[in-house]
Order: sequence, then structure tokens, then C-alpha cells
Amino acid sequence: MLLRIPYTTPLPSFPAIPSTATTLPTAINAVSNFLLNSRSTLVLSGAGISVASGLPDYRGPQGTYTLNKEYRPIFYGDFVHQDAMRRRYWARSFLGWRGVERVRPNKAHVGVGRLWEGGWVGGVITQNVDSLHTASHPSMPITNLHGLLSTLLCLTCRTQSERAPFQRELHRLNPTWSKYLDLMRSNPDLKVKRNPDGDIDVPGVQYEKFRYPPCQKCLKNPDYRGEIRLDRDGAVEKIEGDANVPGVLKPTLVFFGESLRDEVKKEAEVRVDEADAVLVLGSSLATYSAWRLVKRAKDKGKKVGIVNLGGVRGEDAFWDDGEGKTAARYRLGDGTDGVRVEFDAGEVLEGVLDVLERIDGRRASRRVPPAEDGDEGPGEIEMYGA
Ligand SMILES: [Zn+2]
Repeated sequence: MLLRIPYTTPLPSFPAIPSTATTLPTAINAVSNFLLNSRSTLVLSGAGISVASGLPDYRGPQGTYTLNKEYRPIFYGDFVHQDAMRRRYWARSFLGWRGVERVRPNKAHVGVGRLWEGGWVGGVITQNVDSLHTASHPSMPITNLHGLLSTLLCLTCRTQSERAPFQRELHRLNPTWSKYLDLMRSNPDLKVKRNPDGDIDVPGVQYEKFRYPPCQKCLKNPDYRGEIRLDRDGAVEKIEGDANVPGVLKPTLVFFGESLRDEVKKEAEVRVDEADAVLVLGSSLATYSAWRLVKRAKDKGKKVGIVNLGGVRGEDAFWDDGEGKTAARYRLGDGTDGVRVEFDAGEVLEGVLDVLERIDGRRASRRVPPAEDGDEGPGEIEMYGA
């Protein structure tokens, strides 16, 4: 399943479900009913919930695709095969990292964590690569569907490592860039364009001169002796052409054109199957890998809830009970069977927690028995969109 470039245009809004949930208080009531009447709800979160932490989303009013029609994220194949693309990626990522490292969870992350602590939510699958759910609630079960910015993966030996020491190496190997980073720090007004994947655009710099280190484990492996060539400071020497070299480090986040890791995909499916309801927060589900999880939930008779500012990809499929339109039980219900509201997830969760804590006290956290069936369906081709 390959991650492909998603739709870049905003999706149309969808009528509220239930049809009365058009104000914040009525939306809060509907989402409360949804959670109160579910045995175990799984949250599926997207970029929309990190906007309040200062990270841009893709398709919101200030989203990267909305403001910058030319923006194209890096492709996996280019990163793997082209030395120049790796330098360019790491240069931008180097400058963007400090901003990513500094962001803090907002009330949406805190709200999800409190729902989990209270037993109303079993855990989270997130499309976000910002580690903010973990920062907010480290012990909550979290599946990072698209990997993380804060961990690295060696494409040869598959060893995972932390970003922080790698970032220190980038500082050491790129003193000029390191100074530019200091300049950015001392000039908060310096205009930089930040992208959702944690990199930034800098006009007029030579990305090709940026230096990066190889995987240290592969470097010591005698099988690769002579294949990884270093300069005198320990940085990878320029590689001409499309040569495949060992020891290339990449963030674990899934690039466009890259496959989701099988174990992550499987884990996400198991967690959907174990829940009886899925609540989408701050995602337009434009990535197929996320959309298909909600579709899977729907196909298995689980309840679906969506809290997102703006439209959601192919959402008719979640509300149509075979009549070709939104089923009456959703439209005329009270949110128990399904909810679809267009409000900020953080605001909604704050109100929902007030209601739940008043009505339901604290549910004891409990594990949900595994699902009965194992309907796998045919292998799917990712047609996508991240
Ligand atoms: Zn390695």
C-alpha cells in the first residue's frame, strides 16, 4: 500500500449528523451521546488537531496545500535514489526540526488523553507524525500510522534511532546552516514557510552542499566496507547518479510513494476490529490509509463519528445504509448511532468531557475482547492520498 499525494483541493462540507448538531453545544451533546453509548471507541486523529499547536495542516484555511499550490512533499523514490534529494530533504528538515521539537500538545490532545484516562476511549490511531499524543499521554495506546519525525530508520539494517543525536551531528557537519538556525532563533520575525512534514523553505540556499552522516551500524559492518564513502568529518560523500548505497537514514514517517509498514497496517486494523466505534478527529481522511480504516469500521457494523472542520473524503459511504443517501437513523438520531460535526475538535472535546464527567463519572478502563470475525477482504491497492 503506497502513500500517494492526496487531493489538494478542499472537500465540500457535509450536513450535520444528527441534523440538529449545527451549534457547538448541540455538537457537544451529540458527540457525548456517541461516546456514552459505545463500549470502546477508537480515536483516529489527523493534522486538524495539531493546528492549534502551531503546526500547519494540509487542507484547512491556512493549510499548506491551500496557501501554496506549488508545494510538493518529497517522494520516497527520490530520497532513496538521489543523493541531492537527500541533502535537500535533510537541510530543510534540519531547519524545521527546532520548530517541531518546540510544539506542545493542545486541548485536543489533552482531551483525547482525558477521554482515555476516563475509559471512554480505548486509544488512538494517528496520521500525525508530530508525537503530540505521546507527549500529552505517554502510556496511552497510540498507533502512529504514518510513522514519526522524531525517530530515524536505516533503510539497510532497519535499525531505528532517535532524531536528537542525529540533529546534533547535522549541526556539527553544517556550521553555516547551524548559524542560519541561530539567526532564525534570534529573529522570530524572519519569514519562513513551514510545511506539515516539519521542513521549511529557505530562498537562495544551496541544499546540495548540506552534509549528513550515514547509519553508524552499517558503517561498522564489514559487508559494506568501501561502499559508504565519508569525507574527513564523517559525512557521506557526494554520490553521483542513482547509486543505491547502504546506511541511508530516513525519518520513520512515511513519505509519499512509500508503503506503510505491514506491522503498522495490521496493528491499525486489529485496533479497528477490537473497537465498536471509531471517532475521527481533525482529519479529512484524504489519505487512503486512513479512509480505509473508517470504511473497514463501517463495513463491520461499527459506529462512525467525525469531528472535522471542512469536508471529508467520500463520507457518503459512512452514512448510507444502502438507500443511497444519509440514513434517517443518523439524521434524526441524537448522535448515539453516528455523529458528523464541523467544529474544532479541541473545543468539542472540552465540552464533551464536562458532560461525560458529570453524567458518567469515570468509567473503569477496560480491555475489549477481540472481534469475532476475521474478514480480511481482498488485498487493496492504495489509490490515494495521504
Ligand atoms: Zn544501518
